[in-house]
Amino acid sequence: MTAELSYTPLDTIEDHVYYVRQMYNSGITRDLAWRKQQLKQLYSLVKDNEARFYEALKRDMNKPQSEAFSGDVQPVMEECLYFLDNLDSLAKDEKVKARLAMHAMEKLVIRKDPLGVVLIIGCWNYPVQLSLVPLAGAIAAGNTVILKLSEISTHTAALITELFPKYMDTRCYRIVNGAVEETTALLSHHFNHIFYTGNSTVGKIVMAAASKNLTPVTLELGGKSPALITPDANMQTVANRIAFGKFYNCGQICIAVDYVLVPKTHVDQFVAAFKKTVTEWFGQHPKQSKDYARIVSLRHVDRIAGMLNNRKSGTVVMGGDIDREARYIAPTLVTDVEFNDEVLMGDEIFGPILPVITYDSLDDAIQMINKNAPPLVLYVFSQKKKLTEKVLKYTQSGGVCVNDCLMHQAEYSLPFGGVGNSGLGNYHGPRSFRAFTHERSIMTKKQNLEFLMNVRYPPYTSTRLSLLRTLMLTHPAVVWLKSHRSPLKAAAILIILLAIYLKRK
Ligand code: NAD
Repeated sequence: MTAELSYTPLDTIEDHVYYVRQMYNSGITRDLAWRKQQLKQLYSLVKDNEARFYEALKRDMNKPQSEAFSGDVQPVMEECLYFLDNLDSLAKDEKVKARLAMHAMEKLVIRKDPLGVVLIIGCWNYPVQLSLVPLAGAIAAGNTVILKLSEISTHTAALITELFPKYMDTRCYRIVNGAVEETTALLSHHFNHIFYTGNSTVGKIVMAAASKNLTPVTLELGGKSPALITPDANMQTVANRIAFGKFYNCGQICIAVDYVLVPKTHVDQFVAAFKKTVTEWFGQHPKQSKDYARIVSLRHVDRIAGMLNNRKSGTVVMGGDIDREARYIAPTLVTDVEFNDEVLMGDEIFGPILPVITYDSLDDAIQMINKNAPPLVLYVFSQKKKLTEKVLKYTQSGGVCVNDCLMHQAEYSLPFGGVGNSGLGNYHGPRSFRAFTHERSIMTKKQNLEFLMNVRYPPYTSTRLSLLRTLMLTHPAVVWLKSHRSPLKAAAILIILLAIYLKRK
């Protein structure tokens, strides 16, 4: 059992920020061996206490162990191992080739400097992953960190808070717990980067606060992510994968399928296949299934129930039951939903309700997707590459997953982030390292060749100017030659062959 979550006293927040800044200035986090040690500790924090994390996540939202493993525990452990394996290459100076003839002899490198003191504001739906994965990136890049855990997933926040000082160097990495007041107090301080995960309303508050100090931000937000099915799709496979993308953590995932676009001609087939999947997975009474999560709080139950009950269109063809006290909302399918239903299709659902919208032509479906702000992810289910490419060409989204749901987020070799309203910046693996790094350009010159360098100095003469032109501006002929490299090569070979032939004759 974990202790209750207690909030950090407001009057101590300034001290925490001050202290980790002092530690950053001490240079302790510059050392790669030291960073690796901290990453090993972070790995052990999760590994040694896996069972306790499962218990805390179960208490917070009845998260099934398999989902807690793949959505919370595994990503943190895998990310720590990735950085342990790759930190040396990520952190080493990157050599760069000079573009200007003037710098052909110089040493040019990009040094991977830490940004400084980073504020990470976590979210409740994946409270382990969304706090500790960015933390791993910030540690790897050499920053000190203030970590603000989500106050909504209290049991997990309490557990991380209890374990943190046993594993991590709390001189450099500190947790601040609390809600709006504590976060607001934190945001009044100067950080060198703020990494926020949550909704776009708070995202704007974070960005406004950051702008006062010109602090860069990463905003991991949400939105209405559609799944578009084309007529050729194998409907049972599609139904399985969409059900996975909708009911994983009871729909409380930023990349959940928010609504589905089905060809009018195939809607009955989709509904039948979807019902079959849900019954196979959760039985006739999903409330009794050990594999179905609960909504995190009564506030969110009321919000989702309000969307369902006050909808302006659609028929509930599966589910619809709600037990407020048990924070249970059944896996629910609503057909005949109008795209312009301002209740069901207004905000992100973030719960287990799936509206089905039909379309006549692919162009209509694309038009509907483009009426909303660019989503965090776009799901396309099609066996025809041409159709998939058409959808991708005329839409925008943070990411895309073709013929599956969620798995693109689990693959950390891909950057993860939104675009426009769904977020700013991205992370995971090398992109996390980059998000928390300042690329410092370093040019190192020798104190010789002054006779050449003086073409830059006054008194300016026409001879110096023409030399300067040659040294600083690529000649258009070089660009032309490079772009015609292949045809020129082919022409030269032809001429040589012709010469050999003529000589023999
Ligand atoms: P939330 O309201 O719990 O907010 C997240 C964090 O912001 C918490 O730490 C909270 O303390 C802080 N916060 C809340 N109100 C604040 C305020 N007024 N001022 C300062 N800080 C404040 O999270 P939520 O909105 O319920 O989360 C759901 C949203 O997050 C969905 O839109 C979802 O799509 C998005 N999300 C995105 C990702 C991603 O990786 N892109 C991941 C998870 C969730």
